[in-house]
Amino acid sequence: MTLDTTAEAPVPEEVGRLYDRFVTLTTEAPSSNMHYGYWEGPHDTAPLEVATDQLTDLLVRQLELGPGRRVLDLGCGLGIPTIRLARTTGAEVVGITNSHEQARVARALVEKEGMAHLVTIAHGDATELAAHPSGSFDAVMALESIGHMPDRETVLKSAARVLRPGGRIALTDFFERAPLPADKQEALDAYFTKFMMTWVGQIDAYPGIVRAAGLRLSSLTDISEQTIRRTFQQVPRSVVDNLPKPADVSQLPEMDQFGAVAIGLVDVWELGYLMLVAELPGD
Ligand code: SAH
Repeated sequence: MTLDTTAEAPVPEEVGRLYDRFVTLTTEAPSSNMHYGYWEGPHDTAPLEVATDQLTDLLVRQLELGPGRRVLDLGCGLGIPTIRLARTTGAEVVGITNSHEQARVARALVEKEGMAHLVTIAHGDATELAAHPSGSFDAVMALESIGHMPDRETVLKSAARVLRPGGRIALTDFFERAPLPADKQEALDAYFTKFMMTWVGQIDAYPGIVRAAGLRLSSLTDISEQTIRRTFQQVPRSVVDNLPKPADVSQLPEMDQFGAVAIGLVDVWELGYLMLVAELPGD
C-alpha cells in the first residue's frame, strides 16, 4: 500500500476559514508557532516552544539574509516566524496568510512587538501574488504551509516569479518515508482531511516540481527525526493512551478534534518531514 490519503485538494478560501476558526476557538491570546519543533540531535533538550523557533531559525539560515533584504513569508500563520525572521536578520518581511483572523492577530502582534518598520502582514492567496512585482523579493519562506495549497508547482512558480535572480526559497513539507501499513491509514487520512492538506508523495517527487517551476534545487533533506518524531516524543504517554479512535474524534469539542487527529500520528513514523531549499538561476 502506498501512503495516499483520501483528502481532497484543499480550497484556499476553506483553508482560510479553518485558520479563522483556530483563532476564534483559542481561548488564551493566540501566540505560538504553528509548526513542528526542530532539535539538532539527542544532546539538544530544548522545550517545544524553543524547538519551534529553532525550526524557523534553520529555514532562515538557508536564506542568507541581512538588513536591506526583502523576504516573502508564504502562509505566515500568526506572524511569529515572520517577526522572528525580521528580528534576527534585520530583513524586511511581508507575511501572507489566507485567514482574515490570523492577519488581524498577526498585525496586532507586529505592532505590540514594535516591528512595524520591518514586518507587513497581508491577507491573500499564495498562488496569486499579483500585488507583488516580478523580482521584488530576495527570498521566500514557506514554513509548513505548502501542503494546504492546491498545487505545489503553481505555488513554486508564483514564488519564482517574485524572486530576483539568485534569490532563494526555503520550505518544509510532509512526504512518504516508507509504505504505510493498512492499520495506520485511518490516522493519516484523518489528519490530512481535518487540516485540509494534500501531500507530495515521495521525496523524489520534489526535484521535478522544482525544475518545472523554473528553480534550481540547492538541497532537499529528510529532517523527520529532528522534527516530527521528536515533537511526538514530547506528548505524554497518558495522552496517547487515552486518544479516541479516529472514528470517534467527531464527538469531541471542536478544538480537541484538531489535537486528537494531530496526536493520532504519534506512531505513524512513515510520515516524513522535509526541508527544501532552491534558488532562482541567473544571478
Ligand atoms: N508558517 C506559519 C503558519 C503555518 S500554518 C508557522 O509556521 O507558524 C499554515 C499557514 O498557511 C496558515 O497561516 C494558512 O492560512 C496559510 N495558508 C494555507 N494555504 C494558503 C494559501 N493558499 N495562501 C496563503 N496562505 C495559505
